[in-house]
This record gives sequence, C-alpha cells and structure tokens, in this order.
Amino acid sequence: MSQDPSSVNSLPAETPLAERDTLYLRQAIDWSRVARERGNRPFGAVVVSADGQVLSEAWNNTGETGDCTGHAETTAIRQLAGKADRATLAQATLYSSAEPCVMCAGAIFWSNIGRVVFGIDAVRLRVFRGERPEQRDAELSCRDVFAASPHPIDCVGPALISESSAPHEGFWLT
Ligand SMILES: [Zn+2]
Repeated sequence: MSQDPSSVNSLPAETPLAERDTLYLRQAIDWSRVARERGNRPFGAVVVSADGQVLSEAWNNTGETGDCTGHAETTAIRQLAGKADRATLAQATLYSSAEPCVMCAGAIFWSNIGRVVFGIDAVRLRVFRGERPEQRDAELSCRDVFAASPHPIDCVGPALISESSAPHEGFWLT
C-alpha cells in the first residue's frame, strides 16, 4: 500500500501529553460536546493556573447567542476579567479542544496567557469544515500569531487527536 507522501507530511504529528495536560484537555473536549448539544459549533476551552486552579471554562456559544465572536477560547478569556492578573495568566495554560483561530490567538496574546495546549489541529479540522464559505476559517496558524508576540507563548498540539475529533463527526454541513 502506498500513500501520497505530501498529504501525509502535511498533517501535523500528534504531541504526547503529560497526565495533567491530558486531564485538562479532556475537560475542554467535554465542553466541546456540551457546545454541540446546545446547538453550537463543537469547541470547548479551559484556563488553568500554574497551581492547578481552573480559572475559567467555556463552550462555543455562537449558535445560542448569534455572536460570531463567541468562540470557546475568547469566551473563556472574557470570563477572566477581574479574576486573574497578568502575572498569574503568564503562568497559566489555556486548553482548547481545537487549534485556536486567528481571533482567539489574538485574545490569548492580549490576555498574557503563556501556554496553549490544543486538540485537533486546523489542518485536520478543515476536512470537517469542508468548502462552505460560512464554515471555512482564516488559514493562518495560531503559531504564526504567537510568533509575532513580544512575550513568549508556548504552544503544544495537536494532541488527543482522536478524542478531540469525535465531537466533529457528522456535525459540519457538507
Ligand atoms: Zn476562535
């Protein structure tokens, strides 16, 4: 059996996670299922401090609210207002069920969160999204946004690809 090497090489390799990261990424994936059950796109996010305190958690609410900025990561970051200072967030990790989009990557930058762990990557997610204009994303990696940041933002992923992909099965319109 031969596979097209270019298509294989274009998919980012899965990153193995430590136990703690696995736990919180699974929590974000749980929220992605909640999002879908409530009529939204299946995305979830959790922000965790360095000492293991869950600072915020959110699901994508764009279907419920009609607010196109209601992505899980941006919603979770909005919930941090007045609850965590920049020094705390510099040591915090945002877990996202999927690779953050350009908007959420920008929100992560502005929040000063210092680390991101994500599930399914944008390349694999585009297979689910298909070619419908309203479902396509802006094709700029969050890593490119983070690379433009004057402070370091560590980015880990894709991880738990199979688990983070499952809520997308049969969801997107074709
Ligand atoms: Zn987003």
